[in-house]
Amino acid sequence: MPEDLFAASRVARVALPVPVDELFEYTIPATIAAKIEPGMRVRVRFGGRALVGVVVERASAPHFEGRLRPIEAVVDSAPVLSPALLTVLRDTADDVLCPIGIALATALPAGSAPVIRKGYALTPRGRHAAESGAARGAVRAILEALARAPRTAAQLRAQGGAQTVPTLDALSRDGWVRSQEIERGPTARVARERIAAITPGADLAAMRAQLGRAPRQLETLERLAEESPLPTRTLPAAPLRALVERGFVVTDERDTPRDVLGTPLEDAAQVELTADQARALQPIEAAIRDRAPTSFLLHGVTGSGKTEVYLRAVATALETGRQALVLVPEITLTHQILARLRSRFGDRLAVLHSGLRPGERVEQWQRLRGGDTPIAVGARSALFAPLERLGVIVLDEEHDGAYKNDEGFRYHARELAQRRAAAAGCPVILGSATPALETRYAAERGEIQRLVLAHRIGGRPLPSVELVDLADEKAQAPRGRKVILSRRLRAALNETLAQGGQSILFLNRRGFSTRIFCFDCGHAERCEDCDVALVYHASEGALRCHYCDHQRPPPERCGGCGTPDTALLGLGTERLEEEVRTLFPHARIARLDRDIAQRRGATERILHDLRAEAIDVLIGTQMVAKGHDFPGVRLVGVVAADVGLHLPDFRAAERTFQLLTQVAGRAGRDRAPGRVILQTFVPNHYAVAPVREHDYEKFYAQELAHRTSLGFPPVGRLAHVLLHGESLVDTTAQAQQLSERLRREVPGCDVLGPAPAPLPRLRGRYRWQILLKGEDAEVRAAALLARDASTRLKDGIQAAVDVRPWSML
Ligand code: ADP
Ligand code: ZN
Repeated sequence: MPEDLFAASRVARVALPVPVDELFEYTIPATIAAKIEPGMRVRVRFGGRALVGVVVERASAPHFEGRLRPIEAVVDSAPVLSPALLTVLRDTADDVLCPIGIALATALPAGSAPVIRKGYALTPRGRHAAESGAARGAVRAILEALARAPRTAAQLRAQGGAQTVPTLDALSRDGWVRSQEIERGPTARVARERIAAITPGADLAAMRAQLGRAPRQLETLERLAEESPLPTRTLPAAPLRALVERGFVVTDERDTPRDVLGTPLEDAAQVELTADQARALQPIEAAIRDRAPTSFLLHGVTGSGKTEVYLRAVATALETGRQALVLVPEITLTHQILARLRSRFGDRLAVLHSGLRPGERVEQWQRLRGGDTPIAVGARSALFAPLERLGVIVLDEEHDGAYKNDEGFRYHARELAQRRAAAAGCPVILGSATPALETRYAAERGEIQRLVLAHRIGGRPLPSVELVDLADEKAQAPRGRKVILSRRLRAALNETLAQGGQSILFLNRRGFSTRIFCFDCGHAERCEDCDVALVYHASEGALRCHYCDHQRPPPERCGGCGTPDTALLGLGTERLEEEVRTLFPHARIARLDRDIAQRRGATERILHDLRAEAIDVLIGTQMVAKGHDFPGVRLVGVVAADVGLHLPDFRAAERTFQLLTQVAGRAGRDRAPGRVILQTFVPNHYAVAPVREHDYEKFYAQELAHRTSLGFPPVGRLAHVLLHGESLVDTTAQAQQLSERLRREVPGCDVLGPAPAPLPRLRGRYRWQILLKGEDAEVRAAALLARDASTRLKDGIQAAVDVRPWSML
């Protein structure tokens, strides 16, 4: 924009990271007027504090009628958000009812903005006192430190100890120091580490001779003699300290850059496309060339060559001078696709995910911003990558729940990707073997173009899936004995072990945590109105529906098999591991569940061992189901296939079908054909039976009919309001008031609840949920009303509105 135009627009509308959905107006001082553009960060004063916000637009006249404050400083020299991305983020924030400033803050890499802290500086009087040198003790220390530069209280305390704060107060009262805000540069830096090396020029033989009586020091010295320098954290602390004191070893610091792109695959050979792949690729390439923002559903079974289609689409985008964005649901899956992209495209890619250190993320971000790196790969947040000439966006495993951000800015990556694509003029490829019902339904209505890859590459068969009816199995077992592994599954494990193959035993544990599932017969109590499972509340000793709050006492005996007492018991992964160890004492057995995954590096190590065939039987939860490639796995056993059906979520059947299909896809990907055994109490359930034929369409038809009859998405619309507070009485009362008000003011919307949330008490707060169900317009109206009402709740009660909830748990 030319300067005279800027001169006319002296008002900036700024998005600030505060929970108010408004832009705030500031005047632009003449000195910086030429420098400020939308998308740049600025520092402003807000309610007595300094905040960093993003300029969203410039205007010639304010909307606000009072006096405007000026912008204090410009943070960036170039916009960090382009006009197109800014528009996309504004539209999305508006759609999901998120305050714009919070949405924009989510979109910028953490740690890249300066941090503003409260601190202290000397007044002229204080400076005079410091220079006179008259002061003593704590006062002197503070004056001397501040004479060099303003400091934060924390910095001063680190030097001056406990006396610092009272001394600072006294100095402020006397007018020697004043408080001042201190701006610290971006916090994200490349990490550094301490290293140790043998002192240069030292005589190794002489040192060895002196360490005759200090074996641990000698051992440490020998390690350094072999390889120097080494990170100090890899060496024992006490011997190292002693060696440094003797002058044998010196320590230093260095940057620790990591190769975040990983290693390329060895065989990078370009394959010939199959006829199916070529047919699917053709309309995608046409859309890339025509810059058409079409959404494609690439619907292909596991191993059907979807990834190859993505790679070709990326290549086409690059050929036409454009860029590509490839999204995967999880970090562990980025490694796999990174290797394939890297072997095809070399270093022309950047990676963005939460596993990077802040400094690394900023670095990757800057590579993309520079414009020479045309491909971005990563999890959900890579959608905010600064790519201005997008030619294609890929979402692999598009049905995965990890694409939904469940906090703050509650966007879904699929919707945001479609908005970015529309702005950039490029297609979106949604890839999956088991598309989300929303996506498949959109394809049915012609909003998305569906492309099918029906067969595995090279005519490899899909694994054969066998269903074992646990009810039959139980009938055959001796009375009173629990059946955990059926005879068929035990025999298959035995056989696979004998042949040197690997097995995965899969137990979906989430259903058990609510203790609503009978492991003797698979029975779970459900709500007659909502058709979701009831949840047992130990505190009240009642079963409750988490949608409509219907309640009833738990049955004395299991409603399915009549067993007393056992109706509320489940089975855990540890118990399963015990069982397997007893049955197969010589097998190499490992377990991967949420508890184990919390240990640093544990997940990677176990998955690595499994791939390296150092594990015979892996017992795991849903974590092992996701798209990993394990060539040696021949047998997959699902211990209780129907558990997931009993979660209080209308998507329970969809998740169960997706999970089982995905787990089944783990077997026999490479060598021998795979075998899959599903143990279930409901072999004829529409979410279980079609897994056997890998028949997504059959499942889809039945699930859609079910959703239609109950008015759930994708046919109807559903929004979710969660209220939480410390007092049960107050929270309950205000949740009731809110739902009554919603019923009264939006009569066209079906207001369900309040009912206790599936986690009714979390971190000391009571949680209630209200569901809004109906047509788009009514649900949106009710959600807006709930959002506005939620800003005026009393007694510390807070509310969150999700206009398109993904998980109801
Ligand atoms: P998906 O992404 O659908 O699971 P992949 O793209 O990973 O499938 O393909 C499965 C396997 O087939 C991979 O090992 C891949 O290298 C190989 N492959 C893919 N397309 C071809 C092709 N046209 N010719 C030969 N091999 C192929
Ligand atoms: Zn109900």
